[in-house]
Amino acid sequence: MMLLTAALCVLFCATSQTLTEKTDGSADNNIEDEDFSISTLLEKANANLGRNLDDPLVMFGDIAVPTGLGNADPCTSRGCLWTKAQDGNVYIPYRISNQFSARERDIITRGLQSFHSSTCIRFRPHRRERDFVDIQSRGGCWSFVGRRGGAQVVSLSRSGCVFHQIVQHELLHALGFNHEQTRSDRDNHVRILLQNVIPGQEHNFRKINTNNLGTPYDYNSVMHYGRYAFSRNREPTIVPIPDANVQIGRATTMSRTDILRVNRLYQCNSNDLQRKQYASENKFL
Ligand SMILES: [Zn+2]
Repeated sequence: MMLLTAALCVLFCATSQTLTEKTDGSADNNIEDEDFSISTLLEKANANLGRNLDDPLVMFGDIAVPTGLGNADPCTSRGCLWTKAQDGNVYIPYRISNQFSARERDIITRGLQSFHSSTCIRFRPHRRERDFVDIQSRGGCWSFVGRRGGAQVVSLSRSGCVFHQIVQHELLHALGFNHEQTRSDRDNHVRILLQNVIPGQEHNFRKINTNNLGTPYDYNSVMHYGRYAFSRNREPTIVPIPDANVQIGRATTMSRTDILRVNRLYQCNSNDLQRKQYASENKFL
C-alpha cells in the first residue's frame, strides 16, 4: 500500500508543480527532458502497482520479489542463470500473451531478438520446457531477477511499458541483472541524494553486492535510472560524480557495456575461444 501511495504521489506531485522550474542549473539535464528516461517510464507505468492481488511484491522500482524474501540478493550466487546448451547458446523459451496487439507483439519480439545479434542468448517460442518467460500485460513493468524456475512472469503493461528499452530492461532483470545505480561501486560514480527521495522509496537506492563482471560503471546502461528517479520535490536524486552534468539513465537501447555484461555472465564466447584455442594448439599437427 505504501508503494501505491508513493507512486501516485510521483504522478500527482510532479504534475502539480510548474514546468518551468529549473532544478540543477544545467540546460541539458533538466527535469523536462526526463520524460523518456527509463525510470520515468517505469514510475509512470507502475503508478498503480499493488492494486492487482495477483501481482507480486515489487521493489526497487520494477523488480518482483519472491514472497518471504526481503531483498534481491545478487542472484547469480543462487544459481539463477539460464542454462547453456552444448552449442554455446542459452535458449530461453518465451510466451507472449495474446493480450498484446500485433504492433505491441512486434516491439516485444524485436526486443527479444535484439539479444540474438550481440550475445549468445536465444529467445525462442515456448513449447514444453519447464522454465520459461511468460510475458504478460499485468499492472506495470516488472520482472524477477534471474531464472526463477517454472513459468516466470515478465510484466509489460500495455499502458506504458511496451517500449524497446523497457523490454530490454525487464529482460536483463530476467537474465540476472540489477540496476546500475545499485552496483557495489556506485558511490565512486554517483551521489545519491536521499533527502530528495520520496519517503518510503529509499530502498530503491540501496546498494547491492553485485558481481560487476569486470565491467566499468555505465551511465548509459539501459539499467541506469534517471536523475530524478523517485524524487519527491523535482530535485535530483542521482547526481553523477565528478561531472554532475553527464547524462544518466537516458538509454534508448542496450549499451555496449550492457551487452558485454551479458556475454561475460553467460560466457558467451567461451566455446568460440575454446575452439580457437584448440585450433591454435593443433595448428602444427
Ligand atoms: Zn528495473
